[in-house]
Amino acid sequence: MMPLLQNFRRVVVKVGSSLLVDRRASEPKRAWLDALADDIAALHGRGVDVLVVSSGAIALGRTVLGYPSGALKLEDSQAAAAVGQIALSRVWAEVLGARGITAGQILVTLGDTEERRRYLNARETIGRLLERRAVPIINENDTVATSEIRYGDNDRLAARVATMASADLLVLLSDIDGLYTAPPADDPSATLIPLVPRIDAAIEAMAGGPASDLSRGGMRTKIEAGKIATAGGTHMVIADGRIAHPVRRIEQGGPCTWFLTTETPVSARKVWISGSLEPRGLLTVDAGAARALKGGASLLPAGVTHVEGSFARGDCVRIQDAAGVELGRGLVAYDASHAVRLAGRRSQDIVTVLGVTGRAEMIHRDDMILRGE
Ligand code: GLU
Repeated sequence: MMPLLQNFRRVVVKVGSSLLVDRRASEPKRAWLDALADDIAALHGRGVDVLVVSSGAIALGRTVLGYPSGALKLEDSQAAAAVGQIALSRVWAEVLGARGITAGQILVTLGDTEERRRYLNARETIGRLLERRAVPIINENDTVATSEIRYGDNDRLAARVATMASADLLVLLSDIDGLYTAPPADDPSATLIPLVPRIDAAIEAMAGGPASDLSRGGMRTKIEAGKIATAGGTHMVIADGRIAHPVRRIEQGGPCTWFLTTETPVSARKVWISGSLEPRGLLTVDAGAARALKGGASLLPAGVTHVEGSFARGDCVRIQDAAGVELGRGLVAYDASHAVRLAGRRSQDIVTVLGVTGRAEMIHRDDMILRGE
């Protein structure tokens, strides 16, 4: 069964730089944006919560600063983003404002979506904006994101935002109308796949390399985004954004690819853990603990044989068995320094070892997601 756009109540619309920015003039494509704003206003008017993940900061700022075309160094793209983000937010505020909708700018880093406390803060702000019927306009905080800790592409960022906001749909507007059986540029016999019930190896193999130089994410990052979104209980649809009214077109049954989530809405916590990109540490557990975890138990300090990484309480860590096979991930209840001291100890001994009482579990069952779960 093909989902209907009409049935979703919280929708993230992701707009890439190549759609939004006129390359030659280095200006927003105003007529196109106006048409998209009409679509957003139509959704919003029906009571749907709408969030926009918009790229375009670098593309809008680079010419103003006199950078040549082509790839920019990280520092230069950060400078370009600092300039372009102002224009980007302004144009969104204008086009939405003209339709009676308030826009709110949110700039996030990888850390804001990965570190639990910051994640919860960002989620709270988004929640408040939506409660007041404002539309959050979200981008990566390019000016401060360094190379090791940045998304770099807004497809995956949009997927994280969608799961963070418990959106039920992510719309990726692209320069292609969906996923093809092979990259159409290389293979003219390629056909559009309307529905992907599940992203498996065959689907991943269909995605080619990166697309244009303005849009960083090719089909590969879109599939990565699809994995994050669908693992977190969010459906995703890829559609051609180059036309006027691209969202309305999906509603009218235009060509696109739907990626379905197979998850029943798991708790927000598990969603966050399963989509977490950057575990901060590694706990190795003994055979008894590995069995207990599979049987649905929490991870106790006694079952931990080795602790690696510098993580803080609440961070996501990987759990592996003695053979190095990843069993799952979870939010650890202790800082690394405490975890090292507690490894192999009984829960009754926690107070003697640390001098303070602490949780009996190293990772509570509710804070854990096992592979294949
Ligand atoms: N955050 C970047 C920008 O606004 C773009 C990242 C992307 O295009 O995916 O310019």
